[in-house]
Amino acid sequence: MRKTKIICTIGPASESREVVGKMIDAGMNVARFNFSHSTYEEQKARMDIVKAVAEEKGKSVGLLLDTKGPEVRVGIFEGGRMEIEEGELFAFTKEADSSAPCEKKINISYPRLIDEWRKTGREVKERFEKDTPHIILADDGNMEFSVMEIGEEYILCRAERAGALSNRKSLNFPDYHVEMMYLSLKDEEDIKFGLSQGIQYVAASFVRCAEDVKDIRKFITRLGYSGIEIIAKIENQDGVDNLDEIIDVSDGIMVARGDMGVEIPYVKLPATQKTIIRRCAEKGKIVITATQMLESMITHARPTRAEISDVANAVYDNTTCVMLSGESAAGMYPVESVMALSGICREAEKNHHLKDKSEYKERDTKYPYMSVICHAVQSIVPEINARAIIAVSQGGSTIRELSRFRPEIPIVAIVTSEAVYKSLSAYYGVVPLMGERRDRPRDIIKQAREKAIDAGLVKKGDTVIVLFDNDIESRNGTNTMSIEVI
Ligand code: PGA
Ligand code: MN
Repeated sequence: MRKTKIICTIGPASESREVVGKMIDAGMNVARFNFSHSTYEEQKARMDIVKAVAEEKGKSVGLLLDTKGPEVRVGIFEGGRMEIEEGELFAFTKEADSSAPCEKKINISYPRLIDEWRKTGREVKERFEKDTPHIILADDGNMEFSVMEIGEEYILCRAERAGALSNRKSLNFPDYHVEMMYLSLKDEEDIKFGLSQGIQYVAASFVRCAEDVKDIRKFITRLGYSGIEIIAKIENQDGVDNLDEIIDVSDGIMVARGDMGVEIPYVKLPATQKTIIRRCAEKGKIVITATQMLESMITHARPTRAEISDVANAVYDNTTCVMLSGESAAGMYPVESVMALSGICREAEKNHHLKDKSEYKERDTKYPYMSVICHAVQSIVPEINARAIIAVSQGGSTIRELSRFRPEIPIVAIVTSEAVYKSLSAYYGVVPLMGERRDRPRDIIKQAREKAIDAGLVKKGDTVIVLFDNDIESRNGTNTMSIEVI
């Protein structure tokens, strides 16, 4: 059984029932909906298909909404794009009709940036003259502009490389901290829409500090939803600098290598990825390694050797999830990409074990007995050669706590809530199964055994560990462990 979870972005290449079905069969655990693109109608249609097909197949597939976040984008060009020569002057302006001291220009989605930046106008000029200019990047860093001057209504730049800028491309400001408010009206509306469609995860783009995550959490709580998991995307220097405080207030982290590779010097990416994964593992949080994992499979049926190693190394580092973006959303081989990820992860897991589980600090928790039991189970598993840990859980806390130790055997989660069933889809090693509420210990254990057998996870003669709460009314959480032979 593969334990690392697979997240697939759904887009034009993967929005049909047929492809979604094949992707679930190939191992998709969570479907990601990128709200930087597409209309609500399109996203709703995709979500409906994923929900329906997962239900038909009896699989737990989580829904993840990825926000647009505080991005600065260019406006609309006449003809869709503009060719820019090396050395040419180019201006980013407040409005489409703003004046600028050069011919070629485009307005930006956050005009206040120009006022913010004007305050530091002198430094901009000086830096340009000293040949250490502020930089604006576009098109994934392929286009680079040196900032020469900030006017009333424009940022005047020199293009450092030839290229073409097209409609609504996002801009990166690697050496300038943009003051923009974190939660935009669009993000709020998108999240509200997603919640109404039954999403379990919100991936928050360009998180800069703990406060950004708290803003989203407050917004969701105010709308009356609970149990929604927030994944903070680390994709710029602010996010890297404030990593620890961000992890503490988030349910998980995404190593968003796409923007990160532009916002911070790309040579620092591998070490940053390792640090983020290690900190998340220590704190028992989900961590998603994302972007360009199998980029070549957008146009090829097989991954490159470098991609194979990259995916395997993320597993060796202890990632809990790997993610597909363009590969599944817009590529020629969405299903093959999932198969490739699944195969690479499974093979890597064979050669990889979390060596010293004791190094993983205790997590403070509402349920101290549960936490102690989950810890203790890790040393019991090898002693009795257990084949599965079956845990009966109401809210999922026991399952999350077990998952953080990355056990080598499946964690079978028996739950009674549809929302919890789906929200466990991103957790390492967890197989969520729907059950019914049972109160007497004998009945709880009986159901646990039956569900695990039916799901083909254990067979006659296997030893399993069953965890449950023998007194649900007391609300103390898991307090009982039973060793069972199937
Ligand atoms: P994106 O985020 O795909 O929404 O840009 C991921 C990344 O930047 O890597
Ligand atoms: Mn990004």
